[in-house]
Amino acid sequence: MVKLATHEDWSKVLHESDPEKAAYHHGQVELLTPLVKSYSSDQAFRVCELAIQTYGGAGYTKDYPVEQYCRDSKIFSIYEGTNHIQAMDLVGRKLGQNGGMHTQQLQQDISEFVAANLAHPTLGDSVKVLGEALEALGGAVMRLLGWFQGGQIQMVPLVANRFLELMSEVVVAWLLLDAARIAEEKLPGVAEGHPDRAFYTGKRYAAVFYAKNILPGAIHKAQLLSDSDASALEIPDEAFASV
Ligand SMILES: Cc1cc2nc3c(=O)[nH]c(=O)nc-3n(C[C@H](O)[C@H](O)[C@H](O)COP(=O)(O)OP(=O)(O)OC[C@H]3O[C@@H](n4cnc5c(N)ncnc54)[C@H](O)[C@@H]3O)c2cc1C
Repeated sequence: MVKLATHEDWSKVLHESDPEKAAYHHGQVELLTPLVKSYSSDQAFRVCELAIQTYGGAGYTKDYPVEQYCRDSKIFSIYEGTNHIQAMDLVGRKLGQNGGMHTQQLQQDISEFVAANLAHPTLGDSVKVLGEALEALGGAVMRLLGWFQGGQIQMVPLVANRFLELMSEVVVAWLLLDAARIAEEKLPGVAEGHPDRAFYTGKRYAAVFYAKNILPGAIHKAQLLSDSDASALEIPDEAFASV
């Protein structure tokens, strides 16, 4: 069966004897922590909400446990630093940490993956979308930097959640496509009927679906961010009043 990385495996990675590599891994953990906490918790709630819908009226009742999963999963986006605070941590602190080095390293890792896999026979089309989304992410980072430096700091918290989501979608697509690439290499060596075949095949379809259905949304979010609409900040307080 497929061997998954254990806690000990990750611990070894973080305590590399090579200080340069250890610093790289620590930097990536720092940068990606708000994404892991927020994107995963938001998706957990959305998955549970969809599960209720899938069950129809039965999902809404207590006959099945999904209504409880839905309520329980909501807390993940609230405690341990609400997701908005995580997004503020990402744009206000993590992106620029070490002179922006961790962010640049992540962008470089993804860029190298795109260059190496653009011509992949089954994943190439999806990798192309990843390249476009990575470029859009780079533009969004520059836009944020421009707001910090150009005195438009009020724009930063306004778009922080959207930025966190778009960056997460790029990272998730990259990791799914990398897993699919490995699965595609393994597949020819797995006998028909062996359970690993279904596992590896699923990796390809999950990655392609995500790249072609979710990832284009990241490019759109970057465009929205770039458009710099500040209308939410311009609403006069009295306009919220009910008549
Ligand atoms: C079931 C449960 C278990 C918990 N367990 C623990 C525990 O074990 N230990 C512990 O210490 N705490 C615990 N908490 C508390 C939890 O950490 C807080 O509820 C959480 O930090 C949010 O704080 P708050 O409820 O005061 O909301 P608020 O801080 O009032 O936030 C309300 C909303 O406003 C947003 N917001 C807040 N500040 C800003 C800002 N500056 N800009 C924009 N938006 C902002 C938030 O993102 C949030 O969406 C628990 C809470 C619950 C419900």
